[in-house]
Amino acid sequence: MKVKDLEFKKLIAASKIEERIAALAAEINHDYKDKSPILLPVLNGSFMFASDLMKELKIPCRVSFVKISSYSGTASTGQLKTLIGHEESLFNQDVLILEDIVDTGLTLQKIIEELRGLGAKSVEAISLLRKAPAREKKIDVKYVGFDLENDFVVGYGMDYDGLGRNLQDIYKQLGN
Ligand code: 5GP
Repeated sequence: MKVKDLEFKKLIAASKIEERIAALAAEINHDYKDKSPILLPVLNGSFMFASDLMKELKIPCRVSFVKISSYSGTASTGQLKTLIGHEESLFNQDVLILEDIVDTGLTLQKIIEELRGLGAKSVEAISLLRKAPAREKKIDVKYVGFDLENDFVVGYGMDYDGLGRNLQDIYKQLGN
């Protein structure tokens, strides 16, 4: 299967994703049974995961899609990244960050730091996929769908140069 100029092969079928999401949702329904968390899916990659996971949640919950924006700071600080888009106050809220994939964990660490600064009551992360570097660095992701090695993946919301997000299954790049 080709996306733009790269060859991919199927890694995780849609039916397996669906099964795993149901199991993750059951854990969250249990762990948050007396709570009413706010889900923060990180755009763009997590939109499909967020939609499917949320349909399986039975607890009262809210959602607010967020994005990481990078902008140039001053010469001394270099590139700064910040979380944008959370409309509701997160003060005293149980926050669940939803990621498509955690690789080095730098993005997630930055988000967690910002949310703690906003006074969230609790902050946990859910990631559909986790790569080896995040495991090695023991990045704190409470709920993980599938563990990968260092494959580059597309599909189910994730892209290669903007393409491939519409694929129902998850594919890994060949010959990498
Ligand atoms: P990190 O900060 O953990 O290194 O990178 C996390 C972000 O990089 C993810 O949210 C995702 O947007 C992107 N990313 C990392 N690995 C992959 C991959 O294999 N495929 C795609 N499409 N995006 C990836």
